[in-house]
Amino acid sequence: MTAQVQTYEHDVLAIGAGGASPRAAIEASAAKVSVGLICKSLLGKAHTVMAEGGIAAALANVDERDSWKVHFADTMRGGQYINNWRMAELHAKEAPDRVRELEAWGALFDRTKDGRILQRNFGGHRYPRLAHVGDRTGLEMIRTLQDHGVHQGIDVHMERAVVALFKDGERISGALAYDRERGLLHLFRSGAVVLATGGIGRAYRITSNSWEYTGDGHALAYDAGAELMDMEFVQFHPTGMVWPPSVQGILVTEGVRGEGGVLLNKDGKRFLFDDIPENYKSQTADNEEEGWRYTQGDKSARRPPELLTRDHVARCIMREIRAGRGSPHGGVFLDISWIKRRLPNAEEVIRKKLPSMYHQFLKLADIDITRQPMEVGPTTHYVMGGVRVDAETQMSTVPGLFAAGECAAGLHGANRLGGNSLSDLLVFGQRAGAYAARYLKDHRAGKIDEGQVEAAARAALAPFEGADSDNGTGPYRIQHDLQEMMQDMVGIVRRESEMALALEQLAKLSARAARMRVNGNRAYNPGWHTALDVRNLLTVSEAVARSALERKESRGAHFRDDQPRPDPAFAKFNVVVVKGPDGSMRVERRPIPPLPPELKQVIEEMK
Ligand SMILES: Cc1cc2nc3c(=O)[nH]c(=O)nc-3n(C[C@H](O)[C@H](O)[C@H](O)COP(=O)(O)OP(=O)(O)OC[C@H]3O[C@@H](n4cnc5c(N)ncnc54)[C@H](O)[C@@H]3O)c2cc1C
Repeated sequence: MTAQVQTYEHDVLAIGAGGASPRAAIEASAAKVSVGLICKSLLGKAHTVMAEGGIAAALANVDERDSWKVHFADTMRGGQYINNWRMAELHAKEAPDRVRELEAWGALFDRTKDGRILQRNFGGHRYPRLAHVGDRTGLEMIRTLQDHGVHQGIDVHMERAVVALFKDGERISGALAYDRERGLLHLFRSGAVVLATGGIGRAYRITSNSWEYTGDGHALAYDAGAELMDMEFVQFHPTGMVWPPSVQGILVTEGVRGEGGVLLNKDGKRFLFDDIPENYKSQTADNEEEGWRYTQGDKSARRPPELLTRDHVARCIMREIRAGRGSPHGGVFLDISWIKRRLPNAEEVIRKKLPSMYHQFLKLADIDITRQPMEVGPTTHYVMGGVRVDAETQMSTVPGLFAAGECAAGLHGANRLGGNSLSDLLVFGQRAGAYAARYLKDHRAGKIDEGQVEAAARAALAPFEGADSDNGTGPYRIQHDLQEMMQDMVGIVRRESEMALALEQLAKLSARAARMRVNGNRAYNPGWHTALDVRNLLTVSEAVARSALERKESRGAHFRDDQPRPDPAFAKFNVVVVKGPDGSMRVERRPIPPLPPELKQVIEEMK
């Protein structure tokens, strides 16, 4: 079997090609170790490229009152205080340098009048904080990282999906991938692996995530013995497109609300004014006039309720829809066109500040957002949960296995603030790369066990030998049934009985997946690729359902209508899942270390 596997060797192997992985690869390569970067899709095709609104960093270019302390306090409040506080601290302190570094490497941000990086308003951020390039920030970020990375001599392996990690004893020693074009297997020997495979959005039917986001890194880490944390916290972004059905779920950036867009029910009412959470009351406008002034840069004004955190806005939208006050196609209205009542050149402003949104709605829904409202509703967007890592180094509990970006957990707690992902990728991508290189200097690369490679190769090819192709076991059918089930039973509003049923359904889906059969041969075979994705989706879905059952309260993105309030007892731990010795998923409560007094004081000062 091994003879048919092509072999490569890199000191550090970075898996993914979004923002976190190239940033890690750049840093590792700067430490003079050889670096390979593998991605499931083409280089440049990752969620990072889709990011619209911007990168959160307390540069204080637009409002001098901003600082790392305010950013830290905002992130902790947004995450409902179960964040890894050390990660939140490092992130707030280091994000400005990472953004300036990106600029030094050639990123062209929008500018303030005096030539500094422009920053915009976003949900949950007290001051304008998002460095941006129109609504195409991710494209600029990924272009800059790639340009910089290729000059560092990083080896890129495109269209290769990693299906297994190998260990020598306890520590990581390599990975197995298949190439999507010819279906060949590739073995990567490496003493340090950085997982940066993004999210799990494809576990749900309505999602802003593209096809690659099947929780591969989460499942790889779990199978290798690492812990997954906070998996109950799946972010449903409040504003996805709802119409036409072919584009359901596609994201409408929060930048629309940051530029003055308002959410309305079918009666034209700004319903968010009716429900402002207690801990945000002092920071939130209580009238439309003040909210508008905030979006136009008036520093004495408080932000409009449309810029409350995503978990809250999404739930308010669901409430309107369920109460029969939604839009014709099952969403609510998001209107930016109304600003023409305030600005004479409103149409030009909208087209300039939100060019992608303008084109997206015009081309896909035949709606001109400079003149008409959009119809929007919640869409599965981001997972706060992921591989549990050490805050300083990003290493998981498996020696030599690092994780950064969306597939790692900790920074965001129960809810991520918009813009805090791109900064997360830069800050913790940099750290993961630096520490992966440093780890290697102290540890020789491990050995690859041929038995492990053979077993992984056999498992990857098993769908060609499956028992049944018709009886409900085709990979697309299983994926579809899984997505429907997760959407309905472990979605935006949860209930104990439904989640228990979800676990039963998952067991049945797993049994079907074990018999899954695909036709054709290994070259260009998307059915086979889907069969491999389905296994990962099953693992992450089980982790979400089990963790959500364990958290018997509502907090952040995890909302249970049978336990609708936060419970202070649950503020003291994170939920962790790990593979038990018998192969079943074990759930544990992991106590959160107490906040050091100086950080406690920062939070008190910023209240
Ligand atoms: C439409 C949209 C808009 C967004 N806007 C913003 C924003 O304005 N600001 C913000 O902060 N965040 C935003 N986000 C969130 C943010 O873009 C993502 O969280 C972030 O880009 C994730 O980056 P990453 O590096 O962790 O992974 P990604 O950019 O998701 O990249 C993952 C990489 O891993 C690869 N991969 C996956 N599985 C495998 C495998 N098995 N083998 C090999 N490679 C694999 C993929 O091919 C890809 O290259 C947005 C997200 C979306 C979808």
